Amino acid sequence: MIKKRGSLKDQEFLASLKEAVEAGARFTDTHCHIHFSPLADELDDVSERAAERGVHRMVTVGIDLKDSEQALLTSRKSEKIFFTAGVHPHDAEEFNICQLGRFEEILSDPKAVAVGEIGLDYYRNHSAHDRQREVFATFLDMAVGLNKPVVIHNRESDKDCVDVMSAVVRGRERNGVIHCFSGDRGLQKWALDNGFYISYAGPVTYNSSDHLRDTVQYVPLDRLLIETDCPYLSPEPYRGRTNEPAHVVYTAKQICDIIDVNLYDFAVQLEKNYTQLFG
Ligand SMILES: [Zn+2]
Repeated sequence: MIKKRGSLKDQEFLASLKEAVEAGARFTDTHCHIHFSPLADELDDVSERAAERGVHRMVTVGIDLKDSEQALLTSRKSEKIFFTAGVHPHDAEEFNICQLGRFEEILSDPKAVAVGEIGLDYYRNHSAHDRQREVFATFLDMAVGLNKPVVIHNRESDKDCVDVMSAVVRGRERNGVIHCFSGDRGLQKWALDNGFYISYAGPVTYNSSDHLRDTVQYVPLDRLLIETDCPYLSPEPYRGRTNEPAHVVYTAKQICDIIDVNLYDFAVQLEKNYTQLFG
């Protein structure tokens, strides 16, 4: 019974999405990992399913040097795919300063839209905190040098994240994006005051995410972005399954419901925001 009602709701949403897309609405998945398995093995299908929902552009995000090379190669496969290069805090321990030159080369590619993902993760703690902060600061420095925006990963490290960023990128224009936002109001306010965009992913659709949904209302419409972070974090009603760029429309829908805007207008605004930040 519940399932049936859920799917009816989904059909209604897909009908309104179709209308918006026919009127010209387009979406960007601003943070995905489509060069990861299993998405990389079915890239054409993934891209086609995305296009059916109006998702016309994807930014595939690198997490270390080898992976960033892969992200670059994947961007060559389709005009819809852009990429970033950086070292995820989980991989900070493996980063070697000799890699910086190659990172700069990769980031000079016309389809490289940002430095990232970089940041801090004190939840999983795959790398020592000192090392995470050191590598984070190194890449922020590089982003300033290259005049590129940054893609920030932050998990349970709000205070240190702000400390490291304050020292390097405070007040920069079109500074970057806090991806898959999960922080509190303090980090959010600092980010908005310092030229950052706030990006929401699947978790904003979860039943248990009242606190996260509450943060959406504090983000000006012209600073919002959406993403999937696929293949992880599928939004409802796909939670628990492999995520892909087509699903980003469910995060759009959730935010439309929270801030009470219509899907078409929201899509137009999101595309403006994307262009503002990533150019
Ligand atoms: Zn990611």
